[in-house]
Amino acid sequence: MAVEELFRHIESKRERYLGFLKRLVEQPSVSATGEGIEECASQVAELLEEVGIRADIYRDHGGNPVVFGEIQAEAHATLMFYNHYDVQPPEPLDKWLSPPFTLAARNGKLYGRGAADNKGNIAARIAAVDSLLDTLGETPVNVKFLIEGEEEIGSPTLEKFCELHSDLLFADGCVWEYGYRNRAERPVIYLGVKGILYVELEAHGAATDLHSSWGCVVENPAWRLVKLLNTIRGDDGTILIDGFYDDVEKPGEELLSLLDDIDPAEVDVKELFGAEITVGGKRGKDALRALLLEPAVNICGIIAGYTGAGSKTVLPSRASTKLDFRLVPRQEPLDIFRKLENHIKKHGFTDISLNMVQGYPAARTAPDSPFVAAVAETARVAYGVEPVLYPSGAGSGPMYVITERLGIPCVSTGVGYPGSLAHAPNENIREQDFIAGIKHMALLMIRLHQYLH
Ligand SMILES: [Zn+2]
Repeated sequence: MAVEELFRHIESKRERYLGFLKRLVEQPSVSATGEGIEECASQVAELLEEVGIRADIYRDHGGNPVVFGEIQAEAHATLMFYNHYDVQPPEPLDKWLSPPFTLAARNGKLYGRGAADNKGNIAARIAAVDSLLDTLGETPVNVKFLIEGEEEIGSPTLEKFCELHSDLLFADGCVWEYGYRNRAERPVIYLGVKGILYVELEAHGAATDLHSSWGCVVENPAWRLVKLLNTIRGDDGTILIDGFYDDVEKPGEELLSLLDDIDPAEVDVKELFGAEITVGGKRGKDALRALLLEPAVNICGIIAGYTGAGSKTVLPSRASTKLDFRLVPRQEPLDIFRKLENHIKKHGFTDISLNMVQGYPAARTAPDSPFVAAVAETARVAYGVEPVLYPSGAGSGPMYVITERLGIPCVSTGVGYPGSLAHAPNENIREQDFIAGIKHMALLMIRLHQYLH
């Protein structure tokens, strides 16, 4: 079938495919509270079945239901999609211009919680399969949908699901959940994501809060915590924990050259966020390199003592903080945790306790993987512009389950744009990107086998 014919068919089904999105967005599914999770899993499975994709709901991994959809087309190649049907809480509600769980169309944009993250991508991918079943009567590849319901709370049971059901999960390539068109309208394709280690630290002082006059004698846990934090990161962002960089591989030429194709204006934090001070004065290419290829540590919050109105002279009995480390390929969260533990001991901060909250490693697919070429070249046709390859996203996600545990190449691309406001009020996608995303995934299914043989 000619590409133009397929694309025209997709455009003619616009209303049907927007209907898929509407159904998903209008079913709340907030994993943070559990609201609507069961109903949404059923809704996703129903939609898959309606289109002609056999679907099962799994619960044996012990977390929110995983919806697994499959078309066994007896084809040589198998494509998997990873998505999540859960969304972030919609609050603050008064900042929404239309109700969060209603799909509202305004000026070519589609508003609603989950429109971008991640229901727009689920709907677009199901629509892509639908368009092929409609026009060809079959999909040219075997198709698998792995759609979980805990991504927004850190995917705590995804690895367990994949261990229990590794027999279901064979594929030649996987398209990860999200992506967007950059400011130059080029679709971004991520070749990986960073890993994460999330920890909490608590400094303990006297048994109770004290009159601050005791500050001449009694050590203040807030000072202790601040001192420890100062030993963890240098001013230029370098992490000062012994052995932290031991497993970090120097990025090769192939990865570094990808940075040359990315406009540094995409990370102009002064323009984007009004941020005047950058870590170590990094700007332009240096900022890009740090964001996409280097590990980092961040203080998510610090709490101690009194910070209310007026004054209260107090010496707090405890101080605590939460840190996240963004990890790059080969760094193992548990290993970094041990190194942090040693660091705390070595510097004599035995009054500070350390606890690991969450951790998983980074993921990356090689730029010269045939699967990357398949996704990039079909993007060029579907979007009519050159895609841009990012060696990694700056954020984290459990992609390691696919790339490291299952050994499947995986890249991320999707229907967002820089104004999508994922996680925020008025989350939205542009209708044109939704349609382009359907075309891209449909074309990928048609052409994938050409790249694998
Ligand atoms: Zn999200």
